[in-house]
Amino acid sequence: MSAAIIDGKAIAAQLRTRIAAQVARFRQSKGVAPGLAVVLVGEDPASQVYVRNKGKASVAAGIDSFEHRLDAATSQDELLALIGRLNADPSIHGILVQLPLPPQIDAGRVIDAIDPDKDVDGFHISNVGRLNTGQPGMVPCTPLGCLMMLRDHLGDLSGAEAVVLGRSNIVGKPMAQLLLRDNATVTIAHSRTRDLADICRRAEILVAAAGRPGMIGADWIRPGATVIDVGINRVPAASGKTRLVGDVEFDAAVAVAGAITPVPGGVGPMTIACLLANTLTAACRAHGVPAPEGLTT
Ligand code: NDP
Repeated sequence: MSAAIIDGKAIAAQLRTRIAAQVARFRQSKGVAPGLAVVLVGEDPASQVYVRNKGKASVAAGIDSFEHRLDAATSQDELLALIGRLNADPSIHGILVQLPLPPQIDAGRVIDAIDPDKDVDGFHISNVGRLNTGQPGMVPCTPLGCLMMLRDHLGDLSGAEAVVLGRSNIVGKPMAQLLLRDNATVTIAHSRTRDLADICRRAEILVAAAGRPGMIGADWIRPGATVIDVGINRVPAASGKTRLVGDVEFDAAVAVAGAITPVPGGVGPMTIACLLANTLTAACRAHGVPAPEGLTT
């Protein structure tokens, strides 16, 4: 048996094409473009790449992209003042502050200063509360992308035994909430979980978000399970350079799983597509029109 490969790159490309068409309709009917502000503080190389890619993807979808690159020494007050201006600016529908932030800045305070309706990352405490209480809000992009792939591959998730490995605020916890909303039976596992392999082996849906390269071997996977590998880990390559791997031992897992996402080319492209989806959703809501079907939960 060999697992079906869930091609996140292809699913994300389809989603981006759909979003671009819906953005074009929005621009035509409202006379404005959805606007996304991306704020980067400092020169972290990985963050610079992420911000550049988000900007390019926005422009390709017809979304106006505004990049704010601030010096690494920027104070918390200066950053909060910028967030205040972006909150008040009607041409900005989504605000994303790239993490991590330099040590002089309290990321929690900055996130909670963002207008929840413009919080396209879905990290604001109001959006966390809305997700957990089943109200419409902004859903974090990475788990939203995972959910879309799961629905695309499995259809109805009702009653499925799901295990989420990882309990971070940006991936594990919102992922578990989304699966619960789709009526899966959800277990959240973490570094203090006992009998981790046994618990993972129960899963019909296994979402790996631990950030540990190749931690999940074939013997942790229930035969036929659908495996979503969120992990992005840089490891040394035979060439002497580095390469990206997930949390799942991919080559071994394909022999056991029913379906699996590759790394790269799985969750990563869906995360960016969902950022565009959230920006369009925010713009629609700001203009009092319903968000297009299928872009959010
Ligand atoms: P965090 O480090 O914030 O969280 C990791 C979670 O995994 C924690 O809950 C931790 O448990 C748990 N964990 C770590 N080691 C073990 C272990 N040995 N056994 C059991 N549980 C363990 O990471 P993130 O949630 O931010 O990210 C997870 C991974 O996903 C990373 O590789 C990251 O790069 C990737 N990522 C990918 C994205 C994408 O677009 N594809 C987007 C965001 C993240 P505990 O809470 O007990 O410490």
